[in-house]
Amino acid sequence: MISTTPDAVTRVLAEPRSRRAAVRLLAGAVLGGALAVRAMPAAAGVNQTGWYFCSKCNGVYFSAAPNDVNERGRCPAGGAHKYLGGGGYIMLADYDPGFLHPSYQDGWCFCVKCHGLHYTGAPIGACPAGGKHATAPSGNYVVWVGEPFADVGQQRGWRYCGKCRGLWYAGNGTRGVCPAGGGHQPVAGGNYCLNNRNA
Ligand SMILES: [Zn+2]
Ligand SMILES: [Zn+2]
Ligand SMILES: [Zn+2]
Repeated sequence: MISTTPDAVTRVLAEPRSRRAAVRLLAGAVLGGALAVRAMPAAAGVNQTGWYFCSKCNGVYFSAAPNDVNERGRCPAGGAHKYLGGGGYIMLADYDPGFLHPSYQDGWCFCVKCHGLHYTGAPIGACPAGGKHATAPSGNYVVWVGEPFADVGQQRGWRYCGKCRGLWYAGNGTRGVCPAGGGHQPVAGGNYCLNNRNA
């Protein structure tokens, strides 16, 4: 797994704009617990740790306490999402869209029912906790589309699922388990990268 430092993430953020100093201040911002799902002011922006890969469903989920099974949401493969250890990923949310590198796509949403990440720019997909994914409370998350930024540790291999509208990892040769049934479904052009936390 590629690793990166918060500084590397900062460079991704700052690259196309001149507000470097402001971004540097934001780079260390971490939300946890209840704050993590609270909508934030549009201009503020957060770099949120606490996002992890689930090896049961191949999805990504948020947890403020990943060692606690009751804090890992609902997995479409049954029970809670699995925590493999490690620092996980940094997810960006609630930045002014003009402030971010253009490769970031907004409209991604935390689901308070299953703890997964799903896209709201299409009809809302099925949730493993029942019904559709929740759209509130959540920040407006962004995910990097296309090839990784040069020399910055980003993990490629993430895909958008055309069935559940969730984000899932295709780099291990399986399609995981989709809450809409079967495995997740890759979509042309739906190639994403996640920002790794650090080693
Ligand atoms: Zn899972
Ligand atoms: Zn859900
Ligand atoms: Zn799916």
